[in-house]
Amino acid sequence: MTQYDFIVVGLGGLGSVVAHDLATSGAQVLGLDRYPLGHAFGSSHGRTRVIRKAYFEHINYVPLLRRSYDRWHDLEVQTQQNLLDRCGVLQIGPKDGIVVPGVLRAARQHQLDVRTFRPHELQRLYPQLRSINHDELGVFEPDGGMLRVEACVRAWGHLAQHRGAHVEIGIEVQGYSHEGTYWRVVTNQADYRSKTLILCPGAWASQLLPQALIRHLQIKRKSLFWFDSKRSLHRSSGFPVWLFEEPDGVFYGFPQLDDQGFKVAEHSGGQPVKNPSNLDRFVDPNDERRIHDFLARRITGVDHNTRVDHAVCMYTVTPDEHFMIGQLHGFHDLFVGAGLSGHGFKLVPALGEVLAQQALGHTDHNHHHWLSPNRFG
Ligand SMILES: Cc1cc2nc3c(=O)[nH]c(=O)nc-3n(C[C@H](O)[C@H](O)[C@H](O)COP(=O)(O)OP(=O)(O)OC[C@H]3O[C@@H](n4cnc5c(N)ncnc54)[C@H](O)[C@@H]3O)c2cc1C
Repeated sequence: MTQYDFIVVGLGGLGSVVAHDLATSGAQVLGLDRYPLGHAFGSSHGRTRVIRKAYFEHINYVPLLRRSYDRWHDLEVQTQQNLLDRCGVLQIGPKDGIVVPGVLRAARQHQLDVRTFRPHELQRLYPQLRSINHDELGVFEPDGGMLRVEACVRAWGHLAQHRGAHVEIGIEVQGYSHEGTYWRVVTNQADYRSKTLILCPGAWASQLLPQALIRHLQIKRKSLFWFDSKRSLHRSSGFPVWLFEEPDGVFYGFPQLDDQGFKVAEHSGGQPVKNPSNLDRFVDPNDERRIHDFLARRITGVDHNTRVDHAVCMYTVTPDEHFMIGQLHGFHDLFVGAGLSGHGFKLVPALGEVLAQQALGHTDHNHHHWLSPNRFG
């Protein structure tokens, strides 16, 4: 049996970057996944992901976002692909809500370019939007935009292979145990061995992580909808990525790209998922009704009777909605990259780097203690 330095389980958004970085260091790396790179069964599909720097979720993310922007750019250069479209991100919400003050705080502390629009300015600049309330503001970040999510995962995965990582697809990891000085990884095909094991299983964290962590994770089912829309809502007309914070929920979406439709989703809510392998992928009438009601309230020009596509995806959410990145206390050479809590894709270049550097022993494990998987006790 070949013994690897590292086995990375899960080559989705995060694991593909970790495998890339470890292989680039010259280590012997095996990456395992049940599905092909860029597949549509986990949490990294649905064509697009929002990227932005003025992060309302927490000020700590900004340096990681800066690093991610640089690494997305490098990836584009190395793979000769357009992966990040800086079409701008417009976020609208109450001036005393969570999103707008959070964006302005991050912009102020990190000198980021964010423009603030009052309701009448929003209506003038974006006549596609309706019912902007007098207590709402818009914050526009020109550097924000969208990532082509499946192409990004494939790009990291292919580059990892190019750097020497051995990638095996169609392998289902069924368990792992520490035996003497190495990890034995048991799969539906064969057993594999490595000195260090890195688990990046996305929603399957609920099956693959140690019990002490699983109880802190909630897996949620999320619906995505695409509708036909008027030209003024297309990317080619300059319509940006957008997000609305409302009292009843957070809704977001993307400008229409060619014939792909205008994508709309709800960030809040989501039904609990018991088993990610048996996810119900049908249209949930309640999810669709909430999207219809939102569009009727806020955006004109979307033909919401003409749904052109629909997809279901999963969030893996931690109690504080920050990620789990790092080594597990009490286990030899076992690292986890999980709990990306519905907002982690934009950050995978930086998170993958943090995890790979820790696993290589190049950085102190306390460096990003606020993301430590051990913080919940
Ligand atoms: C609807 C939706 C919208 C989102 N929007 C945004 C956004 O706009 N911006 C943003 O930054 N983030 C966003 N996110 C979050 C982000 O996309 C995810 O958090 C991130 O992509 C998850 O990456 P991951 O590597 O943890 O999981 P995944 O990409 O799902 O990868 C996990 C991999 O592990 C493999 N695996 C699991 N178990 C096994 C096993 N036993 N054996 C073999 N392989 C296994 C799976 O097959 C999979 O390939 C969104 C998420 C969703 C669902």
